[in-house]
Amino acid sequence: MKASKNHKKRVELFRKFSNNFQKAREVIPLVAEKPLPDNKFLYVCPLCFKVFNEGALNQGSNYSLTIEHVPSYSLQGKGILLTCKECNNEAGSKLDKKLLDFEAVEEFNQKSLGSKIKAFVEINNELKSSALISNLEGGVHFKLNINRDEPRDKKLQSILGKGRLPSTVQISFKYNQPDKRIVLISHLRIAYLLAFSRLGYAYILSNGLEKIRHQILDPNKILLPEFGSINPINYEFKREGIYLVTTPKELKSLLVVFKMRTSLSLKFQCVMLPLPYEDAFDFYQKVLLRNSNLTKITCINLDPNFDYLENFREALKILSK
Ligand SMILES: [Zn+2]
Repeated sequence: MKASKNHKKRVELFRKFSNNFQKAREVIPLVAEKPLPDNKFLYVCPLCFKVFNEGALNQGSNYSLTIEHVPSYSLQGKGILLTCKECNNEAGSKLDKKLLDFEAVEEFNQKSLGSKIKAFVEINNELKSSALISNLEGGVHFKLNINRDEPRDKKLQSILGKGRLPSTVQISFKYNQPDKRIVLISHLRIAYLLAFSRLGYAYILSNGLEKIRHQILDPNKILLPEFGSINPINYEFKREGIYLVTTPKELKSLLVVFKMRTSLSLKFQCVMLPLPYEDAFDFYQKVLLRNSNLTKITCINLDPNFDYLENFREALKILSK
């Protein structure tokens, strides 16, 4: 039952975006130059630019299209577009996982009730174990991960089991802080895909954004000087949506505001994306230079009820100089 529901959803998304791509082919030179099959219904993966026909909606092969949740399903994002299986599985899940870990650590550091992290624990500088640590009512709880077959853990177990812990116990623990850079790239991925889902191929079929795509697909390489995340608290953005930044003039761009919801918190995130005529590297270089004194930006909210996928030329107008 679920499989057929997902298939229906994939067909629906394929139709919507392939229709938009059909319009793009007539207008955008980059696309027209490419020798594409003379098939009316084509879908271009917004990340790797591989071209798919409707056959790719059948799952199973590696060359298929999958529903992409933006933000990820675990952050309660919705399935709003398709990406190819490779882009969804590979970079996507790696980035999503890091983002989720990062949010968990943030919640733990803020002592949110119910937050938990995996950590490495040392008791009295001697006994070592991995553990799940939770902030619960009344304090921090440790759930040690004891392996009965490990000699080291046997000792730990015998001490804990017999209740022979000295009255004063020194417990220290450490845990990994996820790499902030990777977290910012996962924000960039979410923003880029959200912009695509609203504005379609009018936005992404451009060489200027190529470095963003490469950065998303290869997060360990350093391809961009920064990633456009700005703190929503400083700018009073409390509504998700896509905005057009009008001032400062040299930073004319898109601002994507989105929600990330975990079981414990709701967070807004804002990411600036260059307009398609600009080279992404140059744009983020300017953002980097301005960042410390970027105190005021003015934006226009794109009408959430207007269908830019249907109205391709309107999308182009918004995105032009
Ligand atoms: Zn792809």
